[in-house]
Amino acid sequence: MKDSIRVIDSIQEMREYRSLIYETKNIGFVPTMGYLHEGHLSLVEQSNKESDITIVSIYVNPTQFGENEDLQTYPRDIDRDLDLLCKYNVDAVFYPNNKEMYPEGYLTWVEVEKLSSLYCGRSRPTHFKGVSTIVSKLINIVRPLYLYMGEKDFQQIAVLKKMIEDLNYDTYIRPCPIVREIDGLALSSRNAYLNEKERRNALSLYEAQILAKEMIYKGERNIDTVISKMRKLINEKDGRIDYIEFVDPHTLELKADLIGTLRVLMAVYIGKTRLIDNFEITIN
Ligand code: AMP
Repeated sequence: MKDSIRVIDSIQEMREYRSLIYETKNIGFVPTMGYLHEGHLSLVEQSNKESDITIVSIYVNPTQFGENEDLQTYPRDIDRDLDLLCKYNVDAVFYPNNKEMYPEGYLTWVEVEKLSSLYCGRSRPTHFKGVSTIVSKLINIVRPLYLYMGEKDFQQIAVLKKMIEDLNYDTYIRPCPIVREIDGLALSSRNAYLNEKERRNALSLYEAQILAKEMIYKGERNIDTVISKMRKLINEKDGRIDYIEFVDPHTLELKADLIGTLRVLMAVYIGKTRLIDNFEITIN
């Protein structure tokens, strides 16, 4: 374990640090919004395994939050984050501020059409534009070979894969599995918003997954029937469903039939907190 960690807060210093790394070294990059948990740390561990250098960014990107969303209240604890990253032997942490990332007069946006307006994009119409713009900027600054991203944000991975393909970035996304609490709730910085009762109700997202898998493995082949049972379970636990959709894992197109490998994407409000989760299902 290191006793201190290199924290870089300017783009210029990040570029200088990057330019001193030999071309033969693989750089793994883990972009985050901080308030780190085991989900984030699993990405760091994966990068440590596969890359020579691991760089983590901590930046609560304002442009991916809608006007009435939780930008102001989003949980932050940089000291704790840096302590954790120190224990994981991260090589450098990029921790820029808003002036650095979006200086006065900033005008340029990256938008992945179609994919950004589906699912989460319906209730968060500017979200993925903010995500693709900031990740594009971070890739240009850090120039990593691998980008470690959690499947927790499944649509985000699809959007960014398309951006990387279309804009010819020399970077590859390494998707990592969802890390869950012991009871099944997917880890998220936003879980910090949940009170005790909401925390119990939030488990309905995972329980709905188990229910769906059970129904399908027992032979149910009607997607609408499965979705309506999932909805009922979540509604009974006071969850307000934004969407539950069965999609193609590559194109994100809606699937009409329960055959092959599908991804089930879901977003649910528990109280005021919007939680997302997803799971894969394969039917032969
Ligand atoms: P965030 O800080 O929420 O922007 O997340 C930063 C990265 O961590 C993204 O690639 C997320 O998909 C990933 N991540 C967040 N939660 C989890 C989780 N429970 N399991 C795996 N990866 C996660």
